[in-house]
Amino acid sequence: SQAGGSPRPLRIIALANQKGGVGKTTTAINLGTALAAIGEHVLIVDLDPQGNASTGLGIDRRQRRLSTYDVLSGEAALADAVQVTAVPRLSLIPSTMDLLGLEMAMASAADRAQRLRRALEPLDRGEAQEAQPSTEDRRFTYVLIDCPPSLNLLTLNALAAAHAVLVPLQCEFFALEGLSQLLRTVEQVKGALNPRLAIQGVVLTMFDPRNNLSAQVVADVREFMGDKVYETMIPRNVRVSEAPSHGKPVLLYDLKCAGSQAYLRLASEIIQREGRLPAAA
Ligand code: ADP
Ligand code: MG
Repeated sequence: SQAGGSPRPLRIIALANQKGGVGKTTTAINLGTALAAIGEHVLIVDLDPQGNASTGLGIDRRQRRLSTYDVLSGEAALADAVQVTAVPRLSLIPSTMDLLGLEMAMASAADRAQRLRRALEPLDRGEAQEAQPSTEDRRFTYVLIDCPPSLNLLTLNALAAAHAVLVPLQCEFFALEGLSQLLRTVEQVKGALNPRLAIQGVVLTMFDPRNNLSAQVVADVREFMGDKVYETMIPRNVRVSEAPSHGKPVLLYDLKCAGSQAYLRLASEIIQREGRLPAAA
């Protein structure tokens, strides 16, 4: 905790991009781990029915007692659904396939896009804490929401609940096309549901320095989005793709690899840009 005992502000970030396979889940897991490694208290909310963030953090299906489905449907309180992970200071609310049916189940509810926002309100008041035993201040300082690859009701819930959207963008030819559509959706949500919503930034993923197309995409995205694009790019790195099958973030699987080091740099860059003081880890 900071000098004077004032609580660190909570930052809720939705990782969104309606394209699949661009690095949303990988970034949620590994940015979350990197933030935790430098002293932040992080909650990952798995909002994808595929549950890849849950699996990648080593929480298999049998361990998913309460899930984001239970929280969004109002059957469980947020605090009860928070689970510890093997990473100190990193907690998770897992997802299950039940989420697939949530859209139908909530179709006629007037507050259907505001469920996650309501559920996260106790965090703003510092009420829900990490389940991990610890002597320090255990209030969450970051919530990372891992969105499904679609602009559906689940993603709307994430955008309605977040302070900002972090967009993982894969360095490939059609990267910018999807980005315009996502930015339009963000503007709509901002107008209708969540006036505070901002663009946190764009993180370029799976960058390959030997590929000319990668370099061209980077140049185009930087021209289009300006300084919203992080300096840090996540390289394509085989260790990053191997780690989930071991149920580990890459930082626990191979701390020295280029992917781990890039996620650590991204975490520092995000904290610096927010003008936060580094947490006393
Ligand atoms: P999304 O959540 O957007 O669908 P994922 O994070 O699941 O995307 O990533 C898609 C695939 O790409 C996964 O198999 C993942 O392991 C792999 N991947 C993601 N980032 C990297 C990287 N930097 N280097 C190598 N493989 C990566
Ligand atoms: Mg995913």
